[in-house]
Amino acid sequence: MTFTVLNPATEEPIAELEQAGVEETDEAVARAKAAFPAWRTVAPGDRARLLRRLATLVEEHTEELARIESRNVGKPISGARGEIGMVAQVFHYYAGAIDKHFGETIPVAGGVAATFREPLGVVGLIVPWNFPANIASWKLGPALACGNTVVLKPAELTPLSALRLAELCLEAGIPEGVVNVLVGKGSIVGQRLIEHPDIAKIAFTGSTEVGRLVMQGAAGTIKRVTLELGGKSANVIFEDADLERAAASAPYSVFDNAGQDCCARSRILVQKSVYDRFLELLIEATKGIKVGDPADDATEMVPLISAAHRETVASFVDGEPLFRGDAPDGPGFWFPCTIVEATNDDRIAREEVFGPVAAVIPFEDEADAIRIANDTPYGLSGSIWTRDGARALRMARAIEAGVLSVNANTSVRVSTPFGGFKQSGFGRELGMHALEGYSEIKSVFISTES
Ligand code: NDP
Repeated sequence: MTFTVLNPATEEPIAELEQAGVEETDEAVARAKAAFPAWRTVAPGDRARLLRRLATLVEEHTEELARIESRNVGKPISGARGEIGMVAQVFHYYAGAIDKHFGETIPVAGGVAATFREPLGVVGLIVPWNFPANIASWKLGPALACGNTVVLKPAELTPLSALRLAELCLEAGIPEGVVNVLVGKGSIVGQRLIEHPDIAKIAFTGSTEVGRLVMQGAAGTIKRVTLELGGKSANVIFEDADLERAAASAPYSVFDNAGQDCCARSRILVQKSVYDRFLELLIEATKGIKVGDPADDATEMVPLISAAHRETVASFVDGEPLFRGDAPDGPGFWFPCTIVEATNDDRIAREEVFGPVAAVIPFEDEADAIRIANDTPYGLSGSIWTRDGARALRMARAIEAGVLSVNANTSVRVSTPFGGFKQSGFGRELGMHALEGYSEIKSVFISTES
């Protein structure tokens, strides 16, 4: 069976691909299993050289990969270039990490115990459509660095950059069978990977609903699982913050990637004493966002991924919002930047919209801000804006989320751990912490008695 890949900005077909089924999935797992014994024994220095070569190839193909990503996801080309830049950095980072991820020796009676970091085997990587190349690299980098082989399933809507990355892996000299990409449906290919007895771990990014299925399916074979499941993050603005800076930054923290970002600060919590002033600044800043052709260097805001997703996003906005921006007419799954006033009990404040809709919620004081920020099943990201350093620290410790920023709205860095609390999932990607999720600790006792 074939299926058509569309450009979300034009609704035009950009590729016609064969769809993998259960049989192809089993074949890919068998290839990865066969490649594992040789790959795990590649000397650390050689594995590092291969990953570095891959990083360099990604750098050399930045423009090509960025254009693929921009056309397939409908991303602004400038943002796509940045994302591909990060993919290269991720491979450089894990190339450098390979010989720094070591065990320890532990003095014990009668000898010494040593710990070793062993690869898991074949790892299944299931990736969503919002940052296809980036999220694939966050999983590929540490998986390969630890000596695992992989079967990567990109989202059906956005498989093109993963297919190109697989070609670059081979060009870099990574042996055949180490990296396998399967284009197919989550409910078929993804499900088979989850249940397959030869898959040792599933690294998943996507919805909480499918995350639950991953956990259930993995139970049958006691697979390792890491889950990154999105959020409903709070951007908390105190009265003593630099309001101009906070307001200039806030729109990008929720409208970037058309809001299709698990770290989107989609609940903007504003202290009542500065509520009206902040709202004015926020609307003014949002008016400045450049919406349009993803291929234009100046574009900042782009369409949603699909017609079905646009319908879901639209279902969150009833009544007249505080602000509604412009969106192009004609083809493309466009949705305007939208700001609504809400309480934390409203649907818009409780569910992940995954679209360019921000809910502004007033709060009284620090205790109220903590209560509202934590009143959500999610716990991925968030921001605190204040000039009071002690308050910033108190808030950072009190908010139940895995990745926070103070006087900034950033969440992702190559060298720092990324992942959620509560129903945003568990396990950490990026940084040295990600290596924990792709290796097992083995303890070996060596007797010193003669
Ligand atoms: P899904 O969770 O359905 O998709 C994520 C990945 O899982 C895709 O590769 C998908 O494949 C695969 N998948 C789907 N069903 C199964 C299954 N039964 N077994 C194994 N793998 C499966 O997310 P959606 O793309 O449908 O988006 C829905 C919502 O999820 C969004 O609106 C958003 O709220 C959230 N989301 C969060 C993301 C994040 O970054 N944390 C990313 C994407 C979505 P396929 O594409 O072939 O269906």
